[in-house]
Amino acid sequence: MSMPPSILVLNAGSSSLKFAAYAAADGPPAPLCAGQVEGLGAAPRFRARGPGGEALAERRWEGGGAPATHEEALATIIAWLPEVLGAAPPRAIGHRVVHGGAEFAAPVRLSPPVMERLRALIPLAPLHQPHNLAGIEAAARHFPGVPQIACFDTAFHRTQPEVAERFALPDRFFRQGIRRYGFHGLSYESIARRLAREDAALGGARLVVAHLGNGASLCAIAGGRSVATSMGFTALDGVPMGTRCGQLDPGVVLHLLDAMGMTTAEVTRLLYHESGLKGLSGVSQDVREIEAAGGEAAERALGHFAYRVRREIAALATTMGGLDALVFTAGIGENAAGARARICEGLGFLGIALDPAANARNAPEIGAGPVRVLVRPTDEEGMIAAHCLALIAPATETLP
Ligand code: ADP
Repeated sequence: MSMPPSILVLNAGSSSLKFAAYAAADGPPAPLCAGQVEGLGAAPRFRARGPGGEALAERRWEGGGAPATHEEALATIIAWLPEVLGAAPPRAIGHRVVHGGAEFAAPVRLSPPVMERLRALIPLAPLHQPHNLAGIEAAARHFPGVPQIACFDTAFHRTQPEVAERFALPDRFFRQGIRRYGFHGLSYESIARRLAREDAALGGARLVVAHLGNGASLCAIAGGRSVATSMGFTALDGVPMGTRCGQLDPGVVLHLLDAMGMTTAEVTRLLYHESGLKGLSGVSQDVREIEAAGGEAAERALGHFAYRVRREIAALATTMGGLDALVFTAGIGENAAGARARICEGLGFLGIALDPAANARNAPEIGAGPVRVLVRPTDEEGMIAAHCLALIAPATETLP
């Protein structure tokens, strides 16, 4: 049986390797399967699903032979992929890379010199970039000759004006790269493109997109371009997240280090892993578990989260002189009706009001005021596949 040429998308995290495969035919890439190897280095598990979410494969390892590295995780995925893709190698492999620095404002075909430049960005994202690059190296070894393409979480934000990118530090720090980069760019780009396809008016509109998952940020998008975002130099800034603190007076960090004698490692752990919803609730980082627990601590965590997200929505609207639509996406944004209701409470002065029944069933349109309020699924992997197709497509327009 002949299979269509495919695009493979890889997203390498600290202890997981996620993948998705798409048919590379004409038009938008069509999903074929997606899954992951998770628990690398502990108790790994491999799972794959079809385009409708149906289970295609599941494997755990007893005794030996379990994948322990990204290289071995990729080998596990590649050994299984022919069941769906056939024997032919993918036409291209797209990689999610967290940091493209100030330089990369678009996806790029990988080569040894480009890899060198991406390695130089490791100090800007020490917890993520090394894993992303390990995934690329593993894929390049497994599929020599197949184009490898990096798609950056920062790239979509490179349209921002300089005033949005700057901290109020002496200028030399900006020139040394101490600036706001922003993240979740592939998610924002996928939402902006989807809305533009749905409705040309939304394509040109002033949007605030709230990407609320384990990581959370918001982005002001005007005419399809990012103009401001809540995350800054690292993925710690902005609104509180599952375990990250979000915006924090930098004086607190100095106090923790100097007056309280904490080490850099201890402060890093506190701000990245013990704060946010988990720290505030003392229960969990998961909104569902916090809601189930209820009580004062749950109220504190969910109330604070909503308060900060609401402030950020109003602040981002200011950067565009108003807003036409608010869009919720990612795990919390797509599913947590209670969180959306808390966030929108008190935003009536901006023209935001919810239809409670539509909100309760996660309807695509949940607004009842002059500003549209939308719920849309994010599709970072699909965005990467689309970028890959665009980069490898023959450049027919340059022919005479
Ligand atoms: P990640 O950033 O890891 O990709 P997700 O976008 O999957 O995370 O978001 C995960 C979060 O979404 C969970 O922590 C949970 O709080 C929230 N979530 C998912 N489903 C629901 C639901 N049905 N109700 C409330 N919250 C939910």
